[in-house]
Order: sequence, then structure tokens, then C-alpha cells
Amino acid sequence: MYLCGATVQAPPHIGHVRSGVDFDILVRWLTASGYQVTFVRNVTDIDDKILRTASAQGVAWWAVAERNQRAFTRAYDALGCLPPDAEPRATGHVPEMIELMRRLIDTGHAYASGGGVYFDVRSYEHYGELSGQRLEHMRAAEDVDESGKRDPRDFALWKAAKPGEPAWETPWGPGRPGWHLECSAMATKYLGSTFDIHGGGLDLVFPHHENEIAQSRAAGDGFARYWVHNGLLGLSGEKMSKSLGNSLLVDAMIKEVRPAELRYYLGQAHFRSEIDYSPDALAEAAAAYRRIEGFVTRAAEAGPATDPGPAIPGAAALPPGFSAAMDDDLGVPQALAVVHEAVTEGNTALAAGDVAGAAKQAADVRAMMSVLGLDPLDEHWTGPGGDQGLRPVIDALVGVALRQRQAARDRKDYAAADAIRDGLLAAGIQVEDTPRGPRWELRR
Ligand SMILES: [Zn+2]
Ligand SMILES: [Zn+2]
Repeated sequence: MYLCGATVQAPPHIGHVRSGVDFDILVRWLTASGYQVTFVRNVTDIDDKILRTASAQGVAWWAVAERNQRAFTRAYDALGCLPPDAEPRATGHVPEMIELMRRLIDTGHAYASGGGVYFDVRSYEHYGELSGQRLEHMRAAEDVDESGKRDPRDFALWKAAKPGEPAWETPWGPGRPGWHLECSAMATKYLGSTFDIHGGGLDLVFPHHENEIAQSRAAGDGFARYWVHNGLLGLSGEKMSKSLGNSLLVDAMIKEVRPAELRYYLGQAHFRSEIDYSPDALAEAAAAYRRIEGFVTRAAEAGPATDPGPAIPGAAALPPGFSAAMDDDLGVPQALAVVHEAVTEGNTALAAGDVAGAAKQAADVRAMMSVLGLDPLDEHWTGPGGDQGLRPVIDALVGVALRQRQAARDRKDYAAADAIRDGLLAAGIQVEDTPRGPRWELRR
């Protein structure tokens, strides 16, 4: 599977990482179904916006790309997306691109002109089929200046060097990769001339994927057998843009919301549906996740182990309703309904003191949630890096402080008692006195 990954012009907001979560669920489901998955997700590390950002900030283009690629990696990791088997960068694959251009020029599908290399869209009779468009209804491709093109709808495989911009040598002159070409070159380098799945956001169907198919098929490659596109994440119907400011950057959001809850929010919708971002919907998703987490945690505390076995269980170990939903066009919403039913039954069992019955449901819930990358007791979420792992440690430390506060109160030293409370507050720990004794919360 090849997933069109990030153009690393800026750090990711939550709209950028939705495809990471959706395709991570697909990788996990294919793995659970017994397939051996090779997953390649590329990085576009050069484009106009990266160059503009670099010159505006007075830094090298590759430093901009590196910094933002790290931010994407951080975001994918935080959300529990399994790392790809390969993460090729465009600028590392210029020889493969030259080779592909040579094949296209030799077969009459591309031509060099004015320092650039262009694909002749009229030479490929199936152009427009993926996006359901007819060539005669298409307008000019907007990628570069038109001067070298034979037809305004032709698109650039290679962009001629401009003064002050980075450039690589080719037989047709120095320049830099066109966006579409790099994905064809990288996908076939790592996955072969024909491979199974090619994924990306719905906004990539045209022109990006239409052009990838044209290049690769015209060159004689079978290319992708299946195309899978995820819906976008919008704000009140608008495609998310950088003008929304920094509040929806993943780095910022995971300080406000637990990463597992953010993943649940992004992954719960059907992959093809559009998500219209709203804080209320995010809060609802977080509550739904906490309901699942609360049950498996209580079940684990109540009795026998609920370990689901391997990190990604085989489909045979999963409730049939869950598997049927996942097999039906990756129906995560229906699959989650099966999870929530099991949680309800498990909670009923717990309330009735049926520890074994609860443990069985908890094992099922954990196995199903593993497929969604969200087993609440997985060490990704509970380990030292997750925000659950330190909880017992903090709990013990807060307990020490609270006993000292109580001792201060007992001797009527209210200044000392208040100082302890203020010290905890300064550390982000809010203490609340309840009839059942003090309890604490991390202030978000
Ligand atoms: Zn791509
Ligand atoms: Zn692509």
C-alpha cells in the first residue's frame, strides 16, 4: 500500500493526520485479516510553498522540510499510527524520476520543452477516468508557466530551474521534480510496477492521482489495483486551512486532549465521510472513548487478565459482527457499535459481580480496539510515554502531599496547608475536597 503523505511545508493540524489514522486502521485490519502488508508513505520535501517559507524565514529549504517532517512524525507517533515500512522523500529519488521520464519520452507520452518536461495528456486515452472527467472539459493545468506546453492541459513532470532555487541535473536540463512524477517513481520503486492499494485524501483524486495513473500506465506499469481516498476534515464546511491559526496543530491539540481521544475522534467516522470539526463532537468522542477505557480498566482491576494476545489479533479471535463491519468497506462506525454493545454487556456483568463474564467482554473489547489502534490498556497509551503510565506515580506523590496538608490542618497551621495546595496547583494538580476525601485532577 502506498499512501500519499505529507508535503512538509508546515507542521500538521488535525486535518493533515486524519489520513494517517484512517490508513493505519486499514493496515491493521488487513494485517488482522491475514495479509502481509508493506506500507509506504512518502514525504514531499520540495515544493513551491516550502521554498517560499524558506526564503521568508531566511533558512534553507531542506531545514524547513526536515523540521516539519519531524512534526509529522511526532504527530503520527502520538496518535499511535504504526510507522511505515518505508518513508521515501522526493528529493532522494531523482534518478528514478529521470528513468521514468526517459521511458515516457521514448514512448511519445512526454516531451522536453523550455527546460521542463511535460506529459502529453492527449497521448493517454484513459486520462480523466479516475476522476470521471472528459479531457475536452478540462482547463489548463496550473502547475507552471504555460510557455513550454504543447497543450495547456499538459502537466509538468519536471520543472525547469529558476534562479535561486535548488536544482538537480537531468538530460533535459537542471530543475526540480514535479509533484505527480515523484509519487509514481517512489511507489513503483518500493512496491513494484503493479501493487495493491494507493491511498490519499479526496482532494488528491484530481489532478494528483489522475496524473500519477497517466504517467505510470502510459509508461507500461500496471500501477495501483485499488484507489482508496479518505474524506477531509473541515471547519464549518470549509476545507481546513492554515488561516485557522495554530490551535488545531496536533502539537497544540494533544496538550488539550489526550492523544487516544483525538485518535478516536478522527478514526470513528467512516473513512470516506467528511468530518466537520467541532469541539463538541470532539468532546463526545472523548467521552465515548473514556466509556470503553473505563470498562476495560475496571474489568482488569476486578479480576483475571484481559490480555487480548498479539498486538493485532487475527480476525478469527474477533467477534464476527466486528469483522463483518470492517470487511464491509471498512465500516468503523458499525464496528464501534459492536464494541459499545460489548462494553454495555461487560458493565452489566461487572455490576452483577460476574467477574468472568466481564473479563470475556473486556478481552473482546481490547481485541477489537487493537484493530482500531486504540486498546486503552496498550502500553502505547499506558506506558511511560503515554499519559496513563505516570498516573500511579503522581497519585502516590499527591497522596504524600495531601497527608502533610491534613497534618497541617490538624495542627491548625492553615498557612502551611494552603501552601501545600498552592504548590500542587502550581504543578498543575487541582485538589478537590469531596465527602469521600480529597481527589485530584490534572488541570488541562
Ligand atoms: Zn502523491
Ligand atoms: Zn498518490
